[in-house]
Amino acid sequence: MAFLEIENLQKTFGDLRVVRDFNLNVEQGEFISFLGPSGCGKTTTLRMVAGFETPTAGSIRIGGKDVVNVKPNQRNIGMVFQSYALFPNLTVAQNVTFGLKVAGRDKATIDTRLKEMLTMIGLPDLGERYPFQLSGGQQQRVALARALAPAPQVLLLDEPLSALDAQIRVSLRSEIRAIQQKLGITTVYVTHDQEEALSMSDRIVVMHRGIADQIGTPVEIYNHPATRFVANFVGTLN
Ligand code: ADP
Repeated sequence: MAFLEIENLQKTFGDLRVVRDFNLNVEQGEFISFLGPSGCGKTTTLRMVAGFETPTAGSIRIGGKDVVNVKPNQRNIGMVFQSYALFPNLTVAQNVTFGLKVAGRDKATIDTRLKEMLTMIGLPDLGERYPFQLSGGQQQRVALARALAPAPQVLLLDEPLSALDAQIRVSLRSEIRAIQQKLGITTVYVTHDQEEALSMSDRIVVMHRGIADQIGTPVEIYNHPATRFVANFVGTLN
């Protein structure tokens, strides 16, 4: 049984069919990318998995449990957005431990977890800084630590590198992937960047106008694009 199961998922805003019959099974520990141009429904699909949007139809199961009626904060999901969305008036340490405090964890657990998380993201000494004192790349590392601190079952990343400059983007790709593999956390990664999806993912879902045009490994997608759209979009037909 797959860990994250999405079946016949649909989302309509007024007359606009943004997600049309989307189906996907994600295995435990898998890194999946939703790849496609702006407006194809990637974020809306991710937001339905997170619980920020209610599907018009279809089901989403995590660990075998239907979560469509489960509130976002009870889905055991960690999320990182494009713009850093750190709490600006809290230190790095306070940002990272926020979820643990809300969950009522004891101080010793919180302190240990904070150290683990700051070491994991390579910023062991920056706990007392404020977000404005960090670079964009450092802020995204902190956002990742904050998302992972409560040990979620699923990690959702929505264009987490888009606002960063090229060099940092490339190094963060491998850092995110290394952390994901070390934790073995099931991950869905939204991007419009072909290179990012091809270099990071176990499998890619190429989305086009609210449906999955093709689901496959980077090699499959690149070498055997299923549609002309996929061939164009991943750059094998130029
Ligand atoms: P992507 O992430 O692939 O860029 P989105 O899922 O953000 O695509 O958006 C898909 C389409 O749905 C876009 O046309 C967008 O304008 C529309 N859309 C997204 N959210 C809403 C909303 N809350 N109300 C109306 N339209 C929306």
